[in-house]
Order: sequence, then C-alpha cells, then structure tokens
Amino acid sequence: MTDPGVGDRALREALVATVRRLDALGLNRGSTGNVSARGSDGSGCWITPTGMGAEVGVDDLVWLGDDGRVRGAWQPSSEAAFHRAIYAARPDLRAVVHVHSVHATALACLRRGLPAFHYMVAVAGGDDVPCTPYHRFGSDALSEAVAQAFAERHACLMANHGLVAGGTSLAHATQVALEVESLAETYLLALAVGEPAILGRDEMAAVLARFQTYGRTRRA
Ligand SMILES: [Zn+2]
Repeated sequence: MTDPGVGDRALREALVATVRRLDALGLNRGSTGNVSARGSDGSGCWITPTGMGAEVGVDDLVWLGDDGRVRGAWQPSSEAAFHRAIYAARPDLRAVVHVHSVHATALACLRRGLPAFHYMVAVAGGDDVPCTPYHRFGSDALSEAVAQAFAERHACLMANHGLVAGGTSLAHATQVALEVESLAETYLLALAVGEPAILGRDEMAAVLARFQTYGRTRRA
C-alpha cells in the first residue's frame, strides 16, 4: 500500500508558504494559528504541527488520515479536530486557515459576528460572518459548532478565540481570512463611533449573486 499523500510535495510547500505569508502579514503571531490542506488523493489532510510557527518546514507537517491514522514526527495542531470537522461537513473545501488575528479576535471576544455592515461579508458565502458560542479549544463541542457554522459559510469567528476560514485552495482560504480580518477592523472602527447601517437581505442576495461571477476578468 502506498503512503497517503506521498505525491503532495508541492502542496506541502504551498502550505508552508501560507504559514509564512500569514506570519508576514501579521495575521498569525508566534505559534497560535494553524493551517491545513486536503491531500490530493482525498484520503486525509496535511496540517501544521502543534507549537510551531513560521519556522515550520515541509517535513514537519503532519498527515491526518480520514481513517484516523496520524503520520509525522510531531503531534498535530491541538486544533486539528475542527479542521477535520470542516472537511467532513464541506467536501468542496480544500484548505483551512485558523488565526488569532487582532481585530477578528477582538470581535470574537465581544461574542459578536460580522453583520452585513459592508457588502464584502459575502466573501464568506452569506450575508454575515457568524460567531460560534464559546467552547474550549480542542473540544468536540467546538468542532461541532464550527462544522455547524460552515454548513452555510466558509468562515466564522469562535467566541473568545479567533477566526477560521476555508477555501477551495490555500490561496482562497488565505484571501477569505485576510478579508474577514480587514472587515473586523473596519467594523470595530465604525462601532467606536456609532451603530453601522446594515444592508438588507435583498441587497445582500444581489451581492451574493454578483459574487458568483466576481473576480479577475480578462477582456475578450
Ligand atoms: Zn486557536
């Protein structure tokens, strides 16, 4: 039997590059965040080891098989459980980024999500970015709450904890995490002055429809 994920060198390199990028962007400080990506054979995922930050190397990554097998020199991230729960709930997602970025975490400590105060909340796939109730890190209850939030979104805040974002690729998950952190910063600034106006359901439905075809568009 061949080793799972054996052909994933490029994916593992991209995962390590993602960790370094999150660190360089200031979204992840020290070793608090973690990143994972589905292996190309679809039988599990690669995840950052526990207690390691931007110094992580390709050979430090841990393989988590869907069959429960763990492979690698280090223990997987203590938050591996909710990464697995997300992939189980959303087979279309191929990468998950989790950070304790300052603004998203500040909002999560208020136990508030992002309402439709800005049309870009649609980046998470709906008309808000929810905040899950508080559950201890690494707990089954936290995994269940995150999986529930991901049923209709691909990002959420976790109360008194941080931000988790998913995507169809590492680049996509990183882009969602960056956007949610930026929105949280703007929302906190607006809240400091007053109560931001919230876009209506019809407007957000129209924005979400536009987002289906949004992005870089080459001219014919
Ligand atoms: Zn965390």
